[in-house]
Amino acid sequence: MQMKHKPKLGQNFLVDDAARHAIVDALGDLSKRTVIEIGPGHGAITDILAGRCQRLIALELDRALAAELTFRFRDQPQVQILEGDVLKTDLRTLVAEGETADVIGNLPYYITSDILLQLLAAGSAGTLARAVLMMQREVADRVSAAPGVRDYGLLSATAQMNAQVDHLFTLPPSAFSPPPEVYSTVLRLHFAPRFTELGVAPEGFNSFLKLCFAQKRKTLQNNLRAAGIAVERLSAAWPSSIPAKARAESLGLEAMAELYRSLKSAAHE
Ligand code: SAM
Repeated sequence: MQMKHKPKLGQNFLVDDAARHAIVDALGDLSKRTVIEIGPGHGAITDILAGRCQRLIALELDRALAAELTFRFRDQPQVQILEGDVLKTDLRTLVAEGETADVIGNLPYYITSDILLQLLAAGSAGTLARAVLMMQREVADRVSAAPGVRDYGLLSATAQMNAQVDHLFTLPPSAFSPPPEVYSTVLRLHFAPRFTELGVAPEGFNSFLKLCFAQKRKTLQNNLRAAGIAVERLSAAWPSSIPAKARAESLGLEAMAELYRSLKSAAHE
């Protein structure tokens, strides 16, 4: 029997029992952790988490589902159900000063990228330590792709600049009710920003990455030229280790950071 659902809210509920346990297991020992769950739905993951973590904050946009869970967990003070939009929630306000939280969620697929960017920013700011997230397989493949492979792009570079990404497992549509049209993959992220290690400032480097990946079919030099960087400055600063015709997709983050630093120092000469 199919569960009642709102497709607009990305409601595909997890009904595979082994998978819901595997998702929670992927966060390891939670006995001293605060966990934020995104989109608890009917509580497939919430039910297991509630007994394992020190504090659980579950954020659900659907009023009826939030009410259902508030009633179900009314006698469990470690569980807080918040009705609201994750994208409009400042995650810092949910975590005590000086602490970090972990995030878990079978994400609503219509806003996967926005949620990922929000979590990467919160991870970089020191609010979050780890996340275990289910998303559509195509997006997970992009997040975890290595440079040089077809799926590598801005989302991969941004994610990997902020977190170490582990690809855990993939589920077929039949693991959900109603079944979505796509396969779903679970990733684990350990937030560990690399900006200091690579000698780049976060804001400047994030903007630089957007310019580098602006048009996939263009070379990196052409994308940077289109962004207004003069040819002379590009030739003066171009590191010898990077082929002149390289595309952004083929370069690792170390090479990207080297190019960024070199262009910056050329601008100050
Ligand atoms: N965790 C449940 C499960 O695994 O069965 C439900 C997952 S379902 C894919 C996504 C959930 O996110 C739904 O319950 C949906 O109502 C909720 N949701 C959708 N948009 C949201 C938003 N902007 N903020 C918070 N929750 C949202």
